[in-house]
Amino acid sequence: LDPMSFTNESRAVIDFIADYYKNIEEYPVLSRVEPGYLSATLPESAPYCPESLEDILKDVHDCIVPGLTHWQSPNFFGYFHANASTAGFLGEMLCSGFNVVGFSWISSPAATELESLVMDWMGKLLKLPSSFLFSGTGGGVLHGSTCEAAVCTLAAARDKALKELGGWENITKLVVYASDQTHFTFQKAAKLVGIPPSNFRLIETSFSTGFSMSPEKVRFAIEDDIKSGLVPLFLCATIGTTPSGAVDPIAELGKVAREYKLWLHIDAAYAGSACICPELRHYLDGIELANSISMNPHKWFLTNMDCCCLWIKEPKILVDSLSTDPEILRNNASKFKGVVDYKDWQVALSRRFRALKLWIVIRRHGLANLIYHIRSDISMAKRFEAFVAMDERFEIVVPRKFALVCFRLKPKQEAEGTELNCKLLDAINSGGRAFMTHAVVGGIYVIRCSIGTTLTEEHHVDALWNLIQENAQILLSESIN
Ligand code: PLP
Repeated sequence: LDPMSFTNESRAVIDFIADYYKNIEEYPVLSRVEPGYLSATLPESAPYCPESLEDILKDVHDCIVPGLTHWQSPNFFGYFHANASTAGFLGEMLCSGFNVVGFSWISSPAATELESLVMDWMGKLLKLPSSFLFSGTGGGVLHGSTCEAAVCTLAAARDKALKELGGWENITKLVVYASDQTHFTFQKAAKLVGIPPSNFRLIETSFSTGFSMSPEKVRFAIEDDIKSGLVPLFLCATIGTTPSGAVDPIAELGKVAREYKLWLHIDAAYAGSACICPELRHYLDGIELANSISMNPHKWFLTNMDCCCLWIKEPKILVDSLSTDPEILRNNASKFKGVVDYKDWQVALSRRFRALKLWIVIRRHGLANLIYHIRSDISMAKRFEAFVAMDERFEIVVPRKFALVCFRLKPKQEAEGTELNCKLLDAINSGGRAFMTHAVVGGIYVIRCSIGTTLTEEHHVDALWNLIQENAQILLSESIN
């Protein structure tokens, strides 16, 4: 790694990325390539001799960029966005530049200590109780994804319960509760920690509760399971569900969890970021009743992929479940000084210095601008929602809470709703000028317009609405002819 060529080549890559952002609106948002396209373009085997960066960047431009779906395009309104910012990018650069592996405190003290500090900063921005913070009695860790956070919290809850029940043979009795709107990652995580898939309860939601989980239904399911000799273990509540942005009532669910001694986890992957705004913090009311909470700054907090915050009230339970003590890693700090060894808070041993980017994102923007960013996305979502509401051919299907609008073109007959809206979405996405995705809620196919890509401005939202109207007009006139 020669410092001179490092500087020159890094500059070339940064110029390349800057050009990419300058021209990003020229690309079709959804990639148009066909499966297998790349193997027809790039050589089948690795080169024996080194190649120039110039040649490689030419291939990135010619072969890779066409195969990208442009998540950073201001016309990307699909899934939940993956925010990016200059600050997040700079943090990633520093992380890659140092390339340290902070699995234990001694393996890179700054990586551990900054992570603990930034987890407390972030927790304070969300006004989490001190029971979740290192400065209180809890603590936090950065994972790459909510799925990893889910596996770790479920493993901790499982091991605590199995200890109390007297051994591993009881694992088939443990039951996990979530709603039919909960992200599928929790079912995967439960399976990964050995909970039988038949012991995963999906509590039904409906239009009547805005797709939030009913504490009464959870209570009934728990009672049923206890009668059958099973052991309720874990309840996952969501702030901002993936299909429609619904919010589960944490305070009431917390009471049920307390009563039956369940581990309550709050998945705030998407909407957790929004809770830094004083007017939205109430969605976290009752959080003191939870055992753990996770949220993804890489979704809506201007933090480049990947970054998931997990706070836990009793880190000892997590560490008891995940710790390892191989001779090769033994050291005095771990043995005698009570330091945090983050290898015991996650699945993998090796880990990235993710805290740098979250720290830089918070410092470069400040709470004021981070709040402004969330409010501006929500205000654009309200604008879009108003457009939909004004056009009687359309309807809002689920009330909006954050910056996700679930809407559809009203079908003449209900049975035609899915096909009609599927066609509308395909027409918009295949045109390349914008990209949205869909969900099915309460049996209804909805188009999801998720606003939150960093570069999106009001005029992009207006253009999207015009595009939707144009395509709807074509579809409706086709159906008349
Ligand atoms: N939970 C919610 C509510 C989500 O919306 C998502 C992804 O969109 C996830 C969990 C999964 O997050 P990850 O990809 O970080 O595992």
